[in-house]
Amino acid sequence: MHTDLLAEFGIAPAGPNVVRSPIDGAEIGRIAYDDAAAIAAKIAASVAAFRQWREVPAPKRGELVRLFGEELRVNKAALGRLVTVENGKILQEGLGEVQEMIDICDFAVGLSRQLYGLTIASERPGHRMMETWHPAGPVAVISAFNFPVAVWAWNAALAFVCGDSVLWKPSKKTPLTALATQALFARAAAKFGEAPAALSQIVLATREAGDLLTKDPRIPVVSATGSTAMGRVLGPAVAARFGKSILELGGNNAMIVCPSAKLDLAERAILFAAVGTAGQRCTSLRRLFVHDSIYDKLLAALKLHYGKLAIGDPLAKTTLVGPLIDRAAFEAMEHALAQAVREGGKVTGGGRVLEAEYPGAAYVRPAIAEMPKQTPIVMQETFAPILYVMRYRDFGEALAAHNAAPQGLSSCIFTRDLQEAERFLAAAGSDCGIANVNIGPSGAEIGGAFGGEKETGGGRESGSDCWKAYMRRQTATINYSDALPLAQGIEFGE
Ligand code: NAD
Repeated sequence: MHTDLLAEFGIAPAGPNVVRSPIDGAEIGRIAYDDAAAIAAKIAASVAAFRQWREVPAPKRGELVRLFGEELRVNKAALGRLVTVENGKILQEGLGEVQEMIDICDFAVGLSRQLYGLTIASERPGHRMMETWHPAGPVAVISAFNFPVAVWAWNAALAFVCGDSVLWKPSKKTPLTALATQALFARAAAKFGEAPAALSQIVLATREAGDLLTKDPRIPVVSATGSTAMGRVLGPAVAARFGKSILELGGNNAMIVCPSAKLDLAERAILFAAVGTAGQRCTSLRRLFVHDSIYDKLLAALKLHYGKLAIGDPLAKTTLVGPLIDRAAFEAMEHALAQAVREGGKVTGGGRVLEAEYPGAAYVRPAIAEMPKQTPIVMQETFAPILYVMRYRDFGEALAAHNAAPQGLSSCIFTRDLQEAERFLAAAGSDCGIANVNIGPSGAEIGGAFGGEKETGGGRESGSDCWKAYMRRQTATINYSDALPLAQGIEFGE
């Protein structure tokens, strides 16, 4: 069923480790993991590539990223399909993920001519101060299974124009999309002609071997996307050697639906955010606070929509909900729903479907759990399509409950009341990295900084001024006078 997917990229990886599609559990490829010696060699090669690449003018570096973006455009259908086959997200979302890569390449190309510093007024006569941004060094990108290629592109496209080399450790659940992306990058590099061979490398490694990347002082920046549990281990390991980490960790995203909300828009936003990607986005909607006056109406509408969801083969055009990544994800969902019931919740939906057709896969019915309040299970991120719904009466209470979660990634409000919208966005409003009005919490554009606070890790990637995380800042003071005045007017032996 999924044969020849890799041939389109001209790759035929081999090795003892089987890669399976979550669509049906079928084998789609085999890979070999790098051992410690291979990883050490790749790190050394990355350092050498960096030393060469940092000398290339930034706009020229942008030309390589432009060529890579072209490869992605030409191969969007093939890579999008491979994302779907390896990760299980529906084809529209697989293609969307590749489009996101193209968008960030375009952004990075423009950025390659705008890596600007500052000129700062000096307190000393005949002096000038300036701030310059220099390439940082090899950047390790550790990515999660749920955005197998886009998250790497957010990091890598910026890192390349910033003059860095990149070592990419993809999730062991999605190595083939990484190898295919690398093959496309190699084509762009061949056209470019002057890129060092090890500018972009893939490290296929188990978690333990991933440690080699996090602990190596030659890698100044480690950008890691994944669970909060991963960040708790990785963050301190990178900090212990004074490296910089960009942590993009778990979310527990919420929506407040106010009395004045346009309910048809809210319903559509809820559906896309709560059941899209089978609830496996870091920005998936997990907590829904609905005003008492519209609660029954909205819940009834949602249950109707949930009852009609097309669940099945993510390659089929009509499907809206594909499989979970694996059986462990299904078991985590079952466990969370059972816990929700123990904590007073009323669950609609949930449970495995299409078991006879796909015994080796984990298709589930998305679930709505009506909760009496924000109980402990609601405070956890369960990476599955569970929507916890809670009733509120007072806006201030809803906002407080919204911010009570330990994670702080994405948030939104549906209202046509200006005061509520502005309160949500104000200093005492949502405490998340992303706050939307009349838009769901998922599906961000690349132009903004992406990331979140608290247990989400505090990192920012993609647009805005996130490029600064891939460079080192240098303050330079130039004296063009004939004197040597000291700062703060200090007199020293004169
Ligand atoms: P995961 O934490 O299991 O794995 C993520 C990556 O980290 C994998 O490559 C894994 O091998 C690696 N890893 C894990 N522990 C490590 C360690 N100690 N040292 C080095 N590498 C280590 O996450 P997952 O199941 O692949 O992805 C789902 C999670 O990712 C969810 O929690 C989701 O919210 C989060 N996520 C966050 C964002 C964001 O931008 N905030 C984006 C996507 C996914």
